[in-house]
Amino acid sequence: MINWKKIDTVLLDMDGTLLDLNFDNHFWKEFVPLKYAELHGLSVHAAKQQLVPLFKSMEGKLEWYCLDYWSETLRLDIAGLKAELSELIAVLPHVVEFLDKMRQSPKKVLLVTNAHRDSLALKMEKTCLQPFFDAIISSHDMGVPKEQANFWELLQQRQAFEKQATLLVDDNLAVLDSAQRFGIGYLISISKPDTRLPKRDITNYPAIEDFRELMDGL
Ligand SMILES: [Mg+2]
Repeated sequence: MINWKKIDTVLLDMDGTLLDLNFDNHFWKEFVPLKYAELHGLSVHAAKQQLVPLFKSMEGKLEWYCLDYWSETLRLDIAGLKAELSELIAVLPHVVEFLDKMRQSPKKVLLVTNAHRDSLALKMEKTCLQPFFDAIISSHDMGVPKEQANFWELLQQRQAFEKQATLLVDDNLAVLDSAQRFGIGYLISISKPDTRLPKRDITNYPAIEDFRELMDGL
């Protein structure tokens, strides 16, 4: 699927790529509406009806990924609630094997995420993946989400990489689109970001179901 000899930098997304998106899906679709319903004396159904359009309107914006924004808007302690649900945080199958292989190679490996620093810290604490990366970058540090093409320019200013020799693996197609516009050489998506949901059909980019498919020739 990939000629590893041509790649010297690997950019990896976190949620839905390395970690099971079931945590985030369950958190936003079930747990937050439940807590919001309790706070406002609503049924869970009514809470979902209020929250779904609100979440939809913020998709792709940096605020969507900002725990402080949601804590303020919803009047809930979002970071605290995430910690409450943290037993659901899980690494996707075969990710550790892949990261281990990466660590043995001279390639530069960066975790590049839209996750807020607080979510990132909680997930690194739960999964112990931190030592596998040369650097961990949150788009909040740059003030621009990965969905915007100038994110990649800002990233390149901080972490020198040659775009033609760079691979990005990300489950978010809007992020792959912006990376493509910027000129990242190799783009791969994830067809099963949430282990509890069926496989997605992805046509715009090559997609893997798990990281075993990328380990040939490594
Ligand atoms: Mg993702």
